[in-house]
Amino acid sequence: MSSAALNQVQLKPKDYKSEVSVVWCPGCGHFGILNAIYRAFSELGVDPTKVMAISGIGCSSRTPYFIQSYKMHTLHGRAGAVGSGAQIARPDLAVVVTGGDGDGFSIGGGHMPHMARKNVDLTYILYDNGIYGLTKGQYSPTSRPELKAYTTPYGGPEEPMEPLLYMLTYGATYVGQAFAGKPKVCADLIKGALAHKGFSYVNIFSQCTSFNYLDTIEYYRDLMEDVPAEHDVTDLGAAMALARRPNGKAPMGLLYKVDKPTLTDRLADIRKRVGGTPDYDLKKIIDLSRP
Ligand code: SF4
Ligand code: MG
Repeated sequence: MSSAALNQVQLKPKDYKSEVSVVWCPGCGHFGILNAIYRAFSELGVDPTKVMAISGIGCSSRTPYFIQSYKMHTLHGRAGAVGSGAQIARPDLAVVVTGGDGDGFSIGGGHMPHMARKNVDLTYILYDNGIYGLTKGQYSPTSRPELKAYTTPYGGPEEPMEPLLYMLTYGATYVGQAFAGKPKVCADLIKGALAHKGFSYVNIFSQCTSFNYLDTIEYYRDLMEDVPAEHDVTDLGAAMALARRPNGKAPMGLLYKVDKPTLTDRLADIRKRVGGTPDYDLKKIIDLSRP
């Protein structure tokens, strides 16, 4: 994200809390992620007046309300598209998108590949609880087939998707995963994502204590295994091999990080090539596009 927002202030994590009361259910994993965001902001000296927090719809999409920053609570699934537009219009701002598995990968699934392949310079933190929580417990793209939800009373008929594989495949330049019950791992990954120039994606497992009775804290603790110390984060093949969950274990930590030109960089290159802001005269554009 924009480095203009980093190392600007000295604030404590609590200074990033807004005046809005957090309304999540007791024991919800989202509390841990929110605290990790406050901590990452504090440790990076993020200037709250340079942050644009953007979300769609869902329990996790309430996050911007709880952060001291500029914010937009957009339509279901559209946070990524709005975040991309905000970043292009104001590349000096740090754009942070937060949302859930249903919002990001089902309703907003069409936007995810394009943020990744364009290397839009924003941070996307996905709170993955394998359920639609706000709408009271429907099966989501990351639900396990064993889950009996209101929409799947006999269990699910399909396999869950793997968000890490998806994001790696489409070209995200920073990909990590954590569990809300590991606040330091979450904060470190979010810090790395915020400091990364390009599209950074952090998948954080987060227990929904009200509607997902399968994916409990104990389940996630048992599921996760640290990314091996010898893992090379610039090796896409090795990152994908870990994302495929060898031995059934989900990797925890940073899987992939490379530097590539961002969408903003490429737009600046075009401006340089045409000697300023591109000409929007329609006739000239038609002439230019003819070989
Ligand atoms: Fe958290 Fe689930 Fe409650 Fe939503 S419904 S606040 S995800 S525990
Ligand atoms: Mg969810």
